[in-house]
Amino acid sequence: MKCHYCQREGTIFVENLGDWVCEEHFERYFLKRVDRVLRRVGKGSSLLFGVSGGKDSVAALHASSLVAPKYRLKLGAAIVYTGLAPDCLEVFKSLTEELRMEGVVIDLREWGIKVPPDPRAACFVCGVVNRYLLNRYAVERGYDYVATGHNLDDMAYFGFNNLITHSLDYLFYQYDSVTKPMPEYKMAGKVKPLFWVSDSDALNYVKMKGLPTCVTKCPYEGRDKQAEIKPLLNQVRKKWPSSLVNFVSSLRELAKMAEPPPRKINLCEKCGYPTSGRVCAFCRLKERLEREVV
Ligand SMILES: [Zn+2]
Ligand SMILES: [Zn+2]
Repeated sequence: MKCHYCQREGTIFVENLGDWVCEEHFERYFLKRVDRVLRRVGKGSSLLFGVSGGKDSVAALHASSLVAPKYRLKLGAAIVYTGLAPDCLEVFKSLTEELRMEGVVIDLREWGIKVPPDPRAACFVCGVVNRYLLNRYAVERGYDYVATGHNLDDMAYFGFNNLITHSLDYLFYQYDSVTKPMPEYKMAGKVKPLFWVSDSDALNYVKMKGLPTCVTKCPYEGRDKQAEIKPLLNQVRKKWPSSLVNFVSSLRELAKMAEPPPRKINLCEKCGYPTSGRVCAFCRLKERLEREVV
């Protein structure tokens, strides 16, 4: 197979192109898409990457570190550590050392949080805790944005799932590669450097660069709704390679055209961080976990 862009042999398959590319053009393809996201972040901004040690967060951090100088971005990384996967902590440490950036270990045990053994509950706890702590550490340490490893396949799934459950809030307010910081609400902006690349692109990137990764050992992996819907979306892409890129683009543009009701944001009565209610999900969760332990 020839490379999609040149005469050399294509060794990496890019699903969204439906074609093979050589290593050099794969790197160009990948970094160009990361650049497309990072150029929307203000010059000189600072980004705190949530890194689990999985391929996506590792690829997002590494690729962003190559693009960052162009926009004078300052990068740092944080891992939310449960105490269960020491190899992920190792990956995190070696990566932040290699890239010479601040690496913050957020130890859940210090926050008095234990991830429950029931996989369904674990997933919920993980989601709430990650979102909250990454935002809080970013705000406290003066970072403008939290960056995550969500890729195009995740975005296609989120979009599809929000449509079939008729939950438009996420689409209205967060369905973009970059959302602006709101310091008055102690809310860091959000950046998704892998917004335009697929799951397999992220995997091929870490392989090509020889980057360390770990298995994050999510107990629910492969058993949730994503695991059923993503293969369906992949079927569509197999037949029409550009379909998922177009699907995500379309949803993103539609969300921008819509005039959603103003977002209701309060500050949590307990911790002072943003919430739509009186007490934030994190504080409510913490209370519940403390009660259950007693
Ligand atoms: Zn090529
Ligand atoms: Zn709170």
